[in-house]
Amino acid sequence: MSFRERVFLIRRKENISKMKNVDEAKTTVNSSSFSDDVDHHHHRHRHQMKNSKDDDLHDEESKSKSKRYSLVSFWELPEYMKDNEFVVNYYRANWPVKEALFSVFRWHNETLNVWTHLIGFILFVALTMANLMEIPQVADLISFITRSFPISGDTNVSHNSKDFFMEATNLIDLKRISSDDMDLNPGLIPVTRWPFFVFLSGSMFCLLSSSVCHLFSCHSRHLNLLLLRIDYVGITVMIITSFFPPIFYIFQCDPRWHFIYLGGITAMGMFTIITLLSPTLSTGKFRGFRALLFCSMGFFGFVPAVHALVVNWNNPQRDITLAYEAAMAVFYLTGTMFYVSRIPERWKPGWFDLAGHSHQIFHVLVVFGALAHYGATLVFLEWRDRVGCLNVV
Ligand SMILES: [Zn+2]
Repeated sequence: MSFRERVFLIRRKENISKMKNVDEAKTTVNSSSFSDDVDHHHHRHRHQMKNSKDDDLHDEESKSKSKRYSLVSFWELPEYMKDNEFVVNYYRANWPVKEALFSVFRWHNETLNVWTHLIGFILFVALTMANLMEIPQVADLISFITRSFPISGDTNVSHNSKDFFMEATNLIDLKRISSDDMDLNPGLIPVTRWPFFVFLSGSMFCLLSSSVCHLFSCHSRHLNLLLLRIDYVGITVMIITSFFPPIFYIFQCDPRWHFIYLGGITAMGMFTIITLLSPTLSTGKFRGFRALLFCSMGFFGFVPAVHALVVNWNNPQRDITLAYEAAMAVFYLTGTMFYVSRIPERWKPGWFDLAGHSHQIFHVLVVFGALAHYGATLVFLEWRDRVGCLNVV
């Protein structure tokens, strides 16, 4: 046996005896903790008469611990969580932050509310990355999707066509046709991208804060109120930031309109945020009022939209951008209708608790609305990149 082999054997023996010691130690610990338990039990028995009240508390605590993470019905909810009585079951109430966090992978009536906006958030992160890293195949997602519709087989470009979506599918052809315009911006200096990224950031903030709000608002009254406020701020920020790309690129050569329209919407947004910071206005009773505030911010967009239409009436991109923005308006307004009316759960309370209730439909439509606006923004960008500021109106 070589010296190295001997050393190896000795070490092994040592290790084995160490492990034995640990095992022994473990058993002593176990037995001592067991005897502690027994002692504790005896101790409790001895003082049972004295401490019966304590024991009751103890029992109640352990009962509530096992009950705590089970889902409850609307009528068992603390007052601050009673928002929509047509969603009857599967509520989480007063859950610790950790339990609430992991409940993202459990079924309850907020699961799809969290995931609809979480997926939207991830989608916008991907779009932002694609634009930052200049991967046009991903960034041009919308025209890629619209192009794959069977309708795109028709390559006949007609600017008078009332079929807005057909126009959208012909985006690529338009790009080719308008290559004459290249002369307008011979240097082809790309326009600044920051207004585009302001919109992307606003959307990501809104979608993420909404997911977080739905995930953790079951924790406590205090956190619930705070998260609701962040959610409303998120919606307002998304509306304000959505105005940046169109207003900036459409009126790029006439910056005084930037101040008027972007200043106007920012002021309206500030008013909305300040108003909604009042706790009373966060309750279910004021659902319609909140929707009205957000909608009036959206409707403000009609003023620059009409202005832009008049100024750019002969622009070949007119119908495509109109189609995208009309789609956005339809998505947002339909979403708001679901939000306010609480359809379909109003018709069959309890039937749509887990899937299909109004708030989930509203969330999905918000993501679609934001994607439609993203599509419009790509057209504005591409157009302004191409023509620069030479066609000042
Ligand atoms: Zn929501």
